[in-house]
Amino acid sequence: MRIDIMTLFPEMCERVLDESIIGRARRNGIISVQCHNIRDYTCDKHRHVDDMPYGGGQGMLMKPEPINACFSAISAQCTSRPFLIYMSPKGRVFNQSIARELLEMENICLLCGHYEGIDQRIIDSMVDMELSVGDYVLTGGELPALIVTDAVCRMVPGVLAENVCFEEESHYSGLLEHPQYTRPPVWNGMNVPEELLSGHHEKIARWKRLKALEQTALYRPDLIDRAGLTSDEIKYLKDRQLL
Ligand code: SAM
Repeated sequence: MRIDIMTLFPEMCERVLDESIIGRARRNGIISVQCHNIRDYTCDKHRHVDDMPYGGGQGMLMKPEPINACFSAISAQCTSRPFLIYMSPKGRVFNQSIARELLEMENICLLCGHYEGIDQRIIDSMVDMELSVGDYVLTGGELPALIVTDAVCRMVPGVLAENVCFEEESHYSGLLEHPQYTRPPVWNGMNVPEELLSGHHEKIARWKRLKALEQTALYRPDLIDRAGLTSDEIKYLKDRQLL
């Protein structure tokens, strides 16, 4: 999978993308994530990337020409035109199922806005999807683009030790993950649940499923309807007044 990020702050993105699991996957060639400075595609002497919005208003707007030139240069390096996503507070709200949709694509290109955003004509003529990371406004699209990159890349085979690492996590199956514990078995007077210490695989699996249901019903009751509960599980949650 190849991800290209178009930004005015490539160093900010590189710093994050160089670290930890994603950094290692990049160095091992499992994923290709490349950051491009939109300013490198300006044509004027002062390398302007923004201008005042027509009709007035606060702040500056990113100009269309450098974004278009940057995207054309990226497209020329790819076997197919990348799916272009503009990070925007107006977009579809990002979640695990969108991350799985994006994982199926060969190339995606994430466009980071800054200042007041970008010229609408780029959105109308080139952008395939607008994606938001939540109902709040950030100063730029870099953090949102990094969130999307991380969420997608960690599901690329080989990035994590095994697929089960992400398949059993919150949201992948539609539930939140069960609570987890590590050594020591007793800490500050609190015990690790005995089921987890039992070594009995079926008992452990049942405990994990019931606790995942409990956590979901408690923290995200909106997700529980789609969990496909058995009658035993419904009773379990009702007995605990979680349904
Ligand atoms: N004027 C825009 C508006 O009111 O919708 C907000 C512009 S914001 C200050 C600058 C840039 O940050 C946006 O162009 C976008 O790329 C990015 N951004 C801000 N909040 C975001 C969010 N919640 N999700 C994704 N991108 C966001």
